[in-house]
Amino acid sequence: MSVRNVIIVGSGPAGLTAAIYASRANLEPLLIEGYQSGGQLMLTSEVENFPGFRGGIMGPELMGEMRAQAARFGTEIITADATKVDLEGPIKKVWVDDDLYEGHTVIISTGAKAKLLGLENEGRLMGRGVSTCATCDGFFFGGKDIAVIGGGDSAMEEANFLTRFANKVYLVHRRDEFRASPIMVDRAKANPKIEFVVNTVVEDVLGEDAVTGMALYNRVTEERSEIAVEGFFVAIGHKPTTALFAGQIDMKDNGYIITSPNKHQQTATNIPGVYACGDVQDDHYRQAITAAGSGCQAALDAQHYIEALEDAAEAAAAPA
Ligand code: NAP
Repeated sequence: MSVRNVIIVGSGPAGLTAAIYASRANLEPLLIEGYQSGGQLMLTSEVENFPGFRGGIMGPELMGEMRAQAARFGTEIITADATKVDLEGPIKKVWVDDDLYEGHTVIISTGAKAKLLGLENEGRLMGRGVSTCATCDGFFFGGKDIAVIGGGDSAMEEANFLTRFANKVYLVHRRDEFRASPIMVDRAKANPKIEFVVNTVVEDVLGEDAVTGMALYNRVTEERSEIAVEGFFVAIGHKPTTALFAGQIDMKDNGYIITSPNKHQQTATNIPGVYACGDVQDDHYRQAITAAGSGCQAALDAQHYIEALEDAAEAAAAPA
């Protein structure tokens, strides 16, 4: 099989924007989109801050549009997870199980995933009341008391969203200061269905076959308590999906891929011809639009790398 110009791994806003740009540059990119394609916006409801949609757009609809746009210009899409990579040398190798794909460049856009608290019962009760996705699962908690854990924008947003369904939402945070923007905190505080439980850590989520409550510890009063809830939404941030690249691509201590903002190629990794874009290399902005923007940069960086390869090949072939 021929060596591809560009192999893109991951299909959130970053990967799909890279695919749109690379396919419009006639690079015929291969996109390995993953079984859970579309990234985190597939787990959101309405997106109000993506430019161009003044009335808002549903996250899955936005991703569907981006995917169709990438396909329209000739992106080849494989719906499977990349399982192994070998990125050293001029020809990069990406495996999907036993199938090997080779490329001159690879764009990594595998995004980030929701973090868990690491509680004893959290895994066992996942999908039985424990959730990391309010928009996916909120519907199941109509009229029930539930909890959201975290003090960032995600926790505020999810708590507010869940009041559409729930009778009451406890917002449990380990401190009494919030990482969330003041407007999001104010909105949650103004919501009569949300009760803030601060300076409090969750010791465990309770229940045999389904969530029935949570065991709490107040760090200030040093008191332990239990609150009955049927839903338990963890909203404490994300971790990058980078295990596939460990040992090959340079990463920060928190696992995010290091790109080179000071170089001419802003999405370059430590390996020539390998680029990273979107949340997998952004632990700061983490927005759909910034991910899309860096996807565009990665495609242009890959395009320039390929052009330089072609120039070098032409120069080598030219008569002396
Ligand atoms: P985040 O800002 O990193 O906040 C994570 C929260 O979870 C923090 O309050 C943190 O507590 C808490 N936490 C972390 N680990 C914990 C643990 N083991 N036990 C208990 N609590 C824990 O993450 P995020 O809320 O997901 O937001 C990520 C980024 O997306 C931010 O830049 C945010 O602005 C953005 N975002 C924006 C919107 C919006 O504008 N509509 C919506 C969602 C997200 P500490 O504060 O004590 O560390």
